[in-house]
Amino acid sequence: MIELLLNHLGGEWLAGSGAGTALVDPVLGTELVRVDATGLDLPAGFAFAREQGGAALRALTYRERAAMLGSAAKLLQANRDRYYEIATANSGTVKNDSAVDIDGGLFTLGYYAKLGDGLGDRRFLLDGEAARLGKDALFQSQHVLVPTRGVALFINAFNFPSWGLWEKAAPALLSGVPVIVKPATATAWLTQVMVKDVVDAGIFPPGALSVVCGSSAGLMDALQTFDVVSFTGSAQTAAIIRSHPAVAQRSVRVNIEADSVNSALLLPAAGNESLDLLAKEVAREMTVKSGQKCTAIRRVLVPEALYEQAAQAISARLAKTTVGNPRNEAVRMGALVNREQLASVREGLDYLMQQALVLHDGAAHALVDADPAVACCVGPTLLGARDADAADRVHDTEVFGPVATLLPYRDHAHALALLRRGQGSLVASLYGSDPQALAATAIHMADSHGRVHVISPDVAALHTGHGNVMPQSLHGGPGRAGGGEELGGARALGFYHRRSAVQASTAVLAHYSAT
Ligand code: NAP
Repeated sequence: MIELLLNHLGGEWLAGSGAGTALVDPVLGTELVRVDATGLDLPAGFAFAREQGGAALRALTYRERAAMLGSAAKLLQANRDRYYEIATANSGTVKNDSAVDIDGGLFTLGYYAKLGDGLGDRRFLLDGEAARLGKDALFQSQHVLVPTRGVALFINAFNFPSWGLWEKAAPALLSGVPVIVKPATATAWLTQVMVKDVVDAGIFPPGALSVVCGSSAGLMDALQTFDVVSFTGSAQTAAIIRSHPAVAQRSVRVNIEADSVNSALLLPAAGNESLDLLAKEVAREMTVKSGQKCTAIRRVLVPEALYEQAAQAISARLAKTTVGNPRNEAVRMGALVNREQLASVREGLDYLMQQALVLHDGAAHALVDADPAVACCVGPTLLGARDADAADRVHDTEVFGPVATLLPYRDHAHALALLRRGQGSLVASLYGSDPQALAATAIHMADSHGRVHVISPDVAALHTGHGNVMPQSLHGGPGRAGGGEELGGARALGFYHRRSAVQASTAVLAHYSAT
């Protein structure tokens, strides 16, 4: 009998009343567990989180909540081996790729535990200095940030069941806002088990952390005015969330992290060392988590004269990627998450190939220890489009797998214009050796990118990786990337707080700096 994962809502562990949806091993094709949320009383569960969980969290100080995050990180750390097993089975990822999700999540949790400790024994935050409002300095305005008295609903994507949970939950819980997470069905297992471990350990007050596994039906309807929703997933679903009455009519605050056609740009006259750094990073980004990363490089822009050299350098690295069963030590790249994603990647490749040629063919990679008829594995494919202006599909299409396209540019202005055709991205990386040119180009790119990752030879061995999202830095991007903002150190707390201006005598405002 396959286990039916329980939901945690209203402070209880509850089974859905339906037959459930099976989660499947993408390499072996076997059923693992089932999820179901049918019949849950969502309004009552949300009210419990809002009233019980929220009140209990807000009664604590930032430092006290930070200590809870620290305890959760410690507990999860102790159970890491089990999470790796689940990731291998359910996400089909090799150990290094599971680490991006699992250890990335734990690192982010630990980071906010430390940051929160520094906020001290306060229950609200000051936003800037007091400002005088008139001639007499006695009457002033002080902006304050107070935790919103609602729930934070997280609707997450399948590719980061751990990191996607903790990168959102850490700042929310630290802010004093209860969390209800709805993981993507395909990989809900890891999220559910992590939440269960933390809830069962009694680290947070009842109602602070809830999980609903299965259908999203009714979740948005349960949101009220002071709630917030943070969504990560496709642009299509994002549009549904944005137009839901909760957002459109009840002013529920929304953060959207959607898909993104991210780029890598090699500056003109960058030199061979920079070209090697670009090739290394592109190959890594294409293959980590089989390219199922919202931040992965999809477009690679190089000077015309270096197009062939770049194609060879990237292809040579891709050729070394062994693809197949993540349980086999020789395998470097595991599977896509399921048959739907495999079909979607194949379809996306066909679509791009109408405007691009194959420079390195993923189909040439024989699968190691995996049956091609069953396993959702696919080799990395590098495409190339000589006419970067005409290849509009390359600028518009996110193929969510190990696929990128090499594009030549004529000059610096042409490169910047091509980058902007991504219509706003999460991240771009920039390769070169002239600090002045790199600094100026990064500023040119900043309005259309949430993050610009600059790789010069001096940081070759130090930089944190194009696609790795560090909690210190902003995650999110304008335009088609969703327009969201997450992380960025203490900035993340802003989403879970309400800003208000208290206009009063300085004798009144003086109380705020002390409390
Ligand atoms: P998706 O199909 O849009 O699903 C995302 C989440 O929305 C899932 O939990 C899904 O639940 C839920 N959902 C589906 N329909 C819904 C509805 N009508 N109302 C409310 N929720 C609904 O995306 P995905 O396939 O999981 O993720 C892949 C995409 O996410 C890629 O495009 C990738 O670029 C993007 N992504 C972006 C970021 C970022 O930070 N910007 C990070 C990771 C991924 P079910 O699973 O139950 O359908």
